[in-house]
Amino acid sequence: MLPPSDSKPGFATRAIHHAYDPYAGPGALNPPVYLSSTYTFPTVEEGAARFAGELEGFIYTRVGNPTTALLEARIASLEGGEAALVTASGMGATASLLWTLLAPGDELVADKTLYGCTFGFFNHGLAKFGVTVRFVDLTEPHNLDEALSARTKVVFFETPANPNMRLVDIAAVAERAHRAGARVVVDNTYCTPYLQRPLELGADFVVHSATKYLGGHGDLIAGAVVGPKAVLDQVRFCGVKDMTGAVLSSQDAFLVLRGLKTLALRMVRHAQNAQGIAEYLAQHPQVAACHYPGLPTFPQYALACRQMRLPGGMVAFELKGGLEAGRRFMNALRLVTRAVSLGDAESLAQHPASMTHSFYTPEERAAHLISEGLVRISAGLEDLEDILEDIEQALDWAPRLSPAGDDCY
Ligand code: PLP
Repeated sequence: MLPPSDSKPGFATRAIHHAYDPYAGPGALNPPVYLSSTYTFPTVEEGAARFAGELEGFIYTRVGNPTTALLEARIASLEGGEAALVTASGMGATASLLWTLLAPGDELVADKTLYGCTFGFFNHGLAKFGVTVRFVDLTEPHNLDEALSARTKVVFFETPANPNMRLVDIAAVAERAHRAGARVVVDNTYCTPYLQRPLELGADFVVHSATKYLGGHGDLIAGAVVGPKAVLDQVRFCGVKDMTGAVLSSQDAFLVLRGLKTLALRMVRHAQNAQGIAEYLAQHPQVAACHYPGLPTFPQYALACRQMRLPGGMVAFELKGGLEAGRRFMNALRLVTRAVSLGDAESLAQHPASMTHSFYTPEERAAHLISEGLVRISAGLEDLEDILEDIEQALDWAPRLSPAGDDCY
């Protein structure tokens, strides 16, 4: 146990120690992984009391497990929320929360740039069950006002948005949404609580793909929701238990706990490498635009400085040669790995027009501000010089444009 202290331990300390006593039981430094689907009741009366919620205790792993409970306590502490609930994936987190918060006839307002499967869930899934979804450009908070109605129950956005790095002013949007009686959900996957604290800025809930930075090693799929305990109890006992069944295994919960121990260190290094990559790309003649919140030329640089501790590990850039240049650049990479996902030790590159957003039409991509030549890089933890050397040689393979804009290759 940590020595008693009046001051709250810092972020990195809580990420390593919060809610676990290594001196308890057999004295294991690491928490045990509870591989049990069900839990015993000493008496039928005690079982009944646990079912009635009158007595704390585990019943069945679909509604709770000691290893996942520890992870939930730790994530809640790091996000500064009252409670957390971990799920089998990031999509499981968003779906379990929104199936709980929304009913037919309700309206959801979402930012127009979203992770592709979140967009699919809203546009096809929720809409099919009688929820009206409005996509709005929330980079201008006042755009929200026109989209809100008496039926709007939830406002949802990512910041930075996947994949083009646009930012949303969390405090400004939360203030407008609350005035209209709507709850605000922020997908904080790109930043993690180390870089950005949506709940402190007024959001009601945070969701995560813990597959990414929280896990940090590309070896699991997991998600989390953070928010008020009373609502998360409903998400647990209705959204997850009865609707999605998106339960995280205790083995994967253990891996996320292990990843959290180095989260603060990793986020600093991811951001340092991303800054170096962005500065290199911003001055490269083959690059039409580089989107990174840490560049002073980034249109929302002032907001990034206000809202984020560091500008994060994700960089997006647009190649002058469009779709074909994007494909050639991707195929020429040697160290930076061609893969979707993000937040791993390995630097990863993906080309949304060929991959995550390939099921959009070019017009839909344009409407969602995803250009054909856009490439997204998740800066890994390698040596920056090696990453830059690889990007430099791959850019040589992207089509060069003549001054007239023709492909010279
Ligand atoms: N949110 C964001 C911003 C993502 O990038 C992703 C996945 O890439 C998700 C949510 C979904 O997470 P998962 O793949 O863990 O379901």
